[in-house]
Amino acid sequence: MHASDHFSSPHGLPAGEGRLEVVCGPMFSGKTEELLRRIRRAQIAKLPVALFKPATDTRYDNVEVVSHDKNAMTSIVVGNSQELWNHVQAASLREPGRSEGYSIVAVDEAQFFDEGLPQVCNDLANQGYRVIVAGLDLDYEGRPFGPMPELLALAEEVTKLHAVCVETGRAAHFSHRIAGGTSQVELGAQDRYIPLARHAYVAANEEKSA
Ligand code: ADP
Ligand code: MG
Repeated sequence: MHASDHFSSPHGLPAGEGRLEVVCGPMFSGKTEELLRRIRRAQIAKLPVALFKPATDTRYDNVEVVSHDKNAMTSIVVGNSQELWNHVQAASLREPGRSEGYSIVAVDEAQFFDEGLPQVCNDLANQGYRVIVAGLDLDYEGRPFGPMPELLALAEEVTKLHAVCVETGRAAHFSHRIAGGTSQVELGAQDRYIPLARHAYVAANEEKSA
């Protein structure tokens, strides 16, 4: 038996390629653009990719993942992390004898997923999948969002992106809600949220509570 056989995985990539990457930042920071860029490069390398998004995110399209500048890619909509796991495992079994299934598992809007997502992503990486997750690190109140903190801790590579602060032109790390209610999840784009740098964000919140 060849030593490397211990590391072969049930799909395209050798198990040693398994890794977890997280792309995070506020709204409009280019998370979806970056995710789609990584996916396009994988497709050039002829690596099969599955792109997932939560059923919660219906902003532009029910199935497409669409960035704010309207780049788009077809995705698989799942209700929760278990469904995502089941989908990937089923695909890896579909055509035995071939190196089939996906090599890369991508997830957009990860903040909307349940608390099981970090474990699912970690286990997929252990199985040999390259897992690329994009999501908001903070909610509009500046609190760590859903499963993102654990994903950030588990990932071997984290990319923090910034938007352009609409008040100062500086690097924006916060998503400020300008309209709507007070629940953590409220879908919207420029109509509801603006990216702000720290100082502008603190000032805007002080103004709000004054
Ligand atoms: P995210 O997924 O992080 O919300 P997208 O990838 O969907 O971001 O969109 C990023 C794009 O949003 C930018 O390339 C730019 O065209 C547009 N955009 C609109 N407003 C801003 C802003 N204030 N700062 C940065 N990009 C912005
Ligand atoms: Mg996005």
